[in-house]
Amino acid sequence: MNEGLADRLFLLKYAIDDDSHLVLRDPTKCADCQRPCINRCPAEVYSWEEDKLQIAYENCLECGVCKIVCEKDNLEWRYPRGGFGVFYKFG
Ligand code: SF4
Ligand code: SF4
Repeated sequence: MNEGLADRLFLLKYAIDDDSHLVLRDPTKCADCQRPCINRCPAEVYSWEEDKLQIAYENCLECGVCKIVCEKDNLEWRYPRGGFGVFYKFG
């Protein structure tokens, strides 16, 4: 992540839900994929560790890019529940 972006993300405020709002329909599909979600997500929410896709949903900016670029339409994308998620007024 470039330094300028990291500085800006630092200004955001999050209310973190216990449940992820980013859910894989079929986790096994991620193994046979170029995994564009990892490189395109501006907040580095996705990573590939221990042979599976890890999703740090707490850092999500709710931009929707991962849903658009997912090669296999494999993301059950929704906004966080009311009162949770990212708050931009400090950014
Ligand atoms: S919605 Fe945007 S910030 Fe959130 S995980 Fe997807 S690409 Fe990353
Ligand atoms: S692009 Fe979609 S199918 Fe591929 S790793 Fe990411 S979430 Fe999984």
